[in-house]
Amino acid sequence: MGLLSLGTPLDWDDAVPLAQHVRDHGVEQFLALWRHFRGRTGDTMSWGDELEYMIVALDRPHHAARLSLRQGEILSVLQNCAEVSKERSSPTFHPEYGRYMIESTPGKPFSADPSDLLRVEEDMRVRRMIIRKHLKENEIPMTLTSFPRLGVSDAPFTDPPFEPNGPASRSLFLPDDLINTHVRFPTLTANIRKRRGSKVRINVPIYHDENTARPFIDPTIPYDRNLFPEDSEAKLGAARPDSIYMDAMGFGMGCCCLQVTMQAEEILEARKLYDQLIPVTPLLLAVSAGSPLYRGYLADVDCRWNVISGAVDDRTNAERGEAPVKPDEPMHNSRTGPRRLRKSRYDSVDSYLHPDAPREDNDMALEIDPAVRDRLQAEGVDPLLAEHVAHLFVRDPLVIFSELIHQDDKESNDHFENLQSTNWQTMRFKPPPPGDRIGWRVEFRPMEIQLTDFENAAFSVFVVLLARAILHFRLNLYMPLSQVDVNMQRAQQRDAIHTQKFYFCNSWTSESKETVSRSIREYTLAQLFHGDGSEKMVGFVPLVHRYLDTLQLDEATRKQLNSYVDLVGERADGTLMTAATWMRRFVGSHPLYKHDSVISEELNYEVPPVHHG
Ligand code: ADP
Ligand code: MG
Ligand code: MG
Ligand code: MG
Repeated sequence: MGLLSLGTPLDWDDAVPLAQHVRDHGVEQFLALWRHFRGRTGDTMSWGDELEYMIVALDRPHHAARLSLRQGEILSVLQNCAEVSKERSSPTFHPEYGRYMIESTPGKPFSADPSDLLRVEEDMRVRRMIIRKHLKENEIPMTLTSFPRLGVSDAPFTDPPFEPNGPASRSLFLPDDLINTHVRFPTLTANIRKRRGSKVRINVPIYHDENTARPFIDPTIPYDRNLFPEDSEAKLGAARPDSIYMDAMGFGMGCCCLQVTMQAEEILEARKLYDQLIPVTPLLLAVSAGSPLYRGYLADVDCRWNVISGAVDDRTNAERGEAPVKPDEPMHNSRTGPRRLRKSRYDSVDSYLHPDAPREDNDMALEIDPAVRDRLQAEGVDPLLAEHVAHLFVRDPLVIFSELIHQDDKESNDHFENLQSTNWQTMRFKPPPPGDRIGWRVEFRPMEIQLTDFENAAFSVFVVLLARAILHFRLNLYMPLSQVDVNMQRAQQRDAIHTQKFYFCNSWTSESKETVSRSIREYTLAQLFHGDGSEKMVGFVPLVHRYLDTLQLDEATRKQLNSYVDLVGERADGTLMTAATWMRRFVGSHPLYKHDSVISEELNYEVPPVHHG
């Protein structure tokens, strides 16, 4: 969460008339940054991870694990303490959407030097230790993607407990009290709902076990119209049979993930890295899969992605293509008008950014704000970059602070960031902020958080090494974006490692099309990570090893880095279980589980075994 302005946020009705103002100045702010930094070169590849934790409170006598809503208190202590090893600056702790969530980042970005990569795991351990130290005796910082009983109706799942159906979410299940109390977050929640014209609607397929009803009609959905007068939605079909129905932003933004931001040498390298990592995003989503449990049920998917995508889907019925456009349809972005928007604001990337990207692989029908594109191009921004920004700007700003409406576009990037930071895609292209400290960066965003620091270090280091290898060997992984999107859906399927194949390019060499025949084939994750036996499709793990070979590392360094690379490789080929599979098996074989897809309070206390944590 980069942006946390203080001030008075506008209600949706007051924000609408200012949306165009924010877009207009957001473009100018981007332009100012681009003009200033377009020629910046010589940045080193520094990078940093973001780890998100849930603070879980154990009620040991009652065998219950609940979400502790003490974010504010905990952060106020953490943000004022400087207690880490002497050679590194203190880690940083940030608020996140859930009032039970905390994010940590390294105090200072790492370099991509092997000696620094060796410090990541320890840095992560220290961060967890610091958090732990400031918790109550019964609280635990857990790096768990989705809390299994978030939103259940049969017992409290927060500590302290609260009633659902607050004014921001109007959720049947989630109290507004579990939202970060900073005004930005309830406002964001309410404005997404108001812009959309209804509550968000998420239906995750339930995992049908022996004793699960067919069809499964969720008995825990309160259908009482008197109790929820504004909410006959569930009854009217929002809740689908055979699904776990969720109706609030918190179900998605209350999930934890693992992100890696890398700085490039200059803008073109950032654009290359952005492009080359796009096809990798679904693959690392699948290999990092860690969230099979939602709202007290076992789901038939292993990942959070579609849940969070649905949880912030602010598109109107017409934009989603579920209703014809009415003449009086509100047009928040008056320059694009009411039209179909194919995706939620939280979704996969829609366009490649590097000028060398093959035209035919940029095959998404890109919705853009034409005025934004024209303005940028008139100032000399090339078409791909102009369209990238114009695509981000088809969205409305969701939260506008009255104190921040008027800004100096040469000094501030606040309006640009307003739109940038609420376009939550698998990759994010981050221009340098004002000031001269930071260069062009890309953020790798698909991964689920892992249960241990070793695993989180392994996945983070793997991404950085893969990025280094891609640049070093000048790989060409371009493939049609429409097929990357197919992969995104496959990646989330239960046990994707054993059941799914993924589209990928059969030849990774950078030689031109004329000299190499490239085509898109379907591969298992084992093939993609270990190669298919051909020299052209090496596999990510051998590729990273080849890159490490070029560095001539001492034995101890190589051994530790190998342990990270191997972990990811062994997850990908099924030698090791993903966190999702491990949780499924744990639930499936637990004596408290009745093979009815239900995660009871007692079972939740055991999985994952938090009291050992
Ligand atoms: P956001 O939530 O917007 O992605 P955060 O500030 O939470 O942003 O995280 C940014 C990440 O980028 C952190 O891991 C941080 O260490 C890292 N970072 C900061 N400065 C640089 C830099 N110059 N180069 C690379 N990474 C950086
Ligand atoms: Mg975060
Ligand atoms: Mg962050
Ligand atoms: Mg981030």
